[in-house]
Amino acid sequence: MTQIICIANQKGGVGKTTTAINLAAALALSAKKILLVDCDPQANATTGIGLDKSSLGQTLYHALIGEARVEDLICNCEIEGLHILPSRVELIGFEVEMMGAPEREKLLYRILAPLQNRYDYILLDCPPSLSLLTLNAFTAADSVLIPLQSEFYALEGLGQLLQTVKRIKKSLNTHLRIAGILLTMFDGRTNLSTQVAEDAEQYFKDLIFKTRIPRNVRLGEAPSFGQSIFIYAPASKGAQSYMELAEELMRASS
Ligand code: ADP
Ligand code: MG
Repeated sequence: MTQIICIANQKGGVGKTTTAINLAAALALSAKKILLVDCDPQANATTGIGLDKSSLGQTLYHALIGEARVEDLICNCEIEGLHILPSRVELIGFEVEMMGAPEREKLLYRILAPLQNRYDYILLDCPPSLSLLTLNAFTAADSVLIPLQSEFYALEGLGQLLQTVKRIKKSLNTHLRIAGILLTMFDGRTNLSTQVAEDAEQYFKDLIFKTRIPRNVRLGEAPSFGQSIFIYAPASKGAQSYMELAEELMRASS
């Protein structure tokens, strides 16, 4: 059965896209079949995995508005078993154009339905907002993975995010659950990172992934080369930690 995991946090710059790309790559390298869906008009996952936006034809936007079949949009990546459903800036129009459409939160769910069972995991990289695109991702997903940057104010806004998940669970997607909260850009040498980790663990207990993603220069550099960390710097701490996360996730879902 395909598991659909949505990677969300309405804050920008917390490591959503970095997690989406590198978790997707780690799972593919573990012999799983993976589809990464770029749900952000900024399209950082699309370029970060090595696709050239200018050479793309139709994208996720066209599937969502019913102008393309999702199967025709899926691209291959450098890693075997890893596919991507790319995005581009036109996805911005989706929010406004679909404002009054009936069942507008279910459009992503519907277009992904034909892909059920073709993949082990489908990862949805969300924009930094609780907008219609993110609501579509929550409605389509089995679970939500929340990256939490290990810095001051990290926990701020998390309440609102969890409230939104609860609301979706009550209405549009009753089986939605939290996959876990992931500490990102963790630096054990600073009191601040340690404090955020302690607070998060005290408050959210088992919801926190055991794996923490360290702040790692290689992870920051990889997207500008259009490569996952496993191609760019396979021996780095960043690669090691995302592989550990993939293993933790696979253990939880087996
Ligand atoms: P989001 O998708 O939540 O906006 P990104 O994944 O794009 O966040 O990360 C924001 C910035 O931080 C990017 O420049 C990214 O390369 C960098 N970054 C993310 N995670 C790490 C990390 N663990 N170590 C170092 N840099 C990171
Ligand atoms: Mg992003």
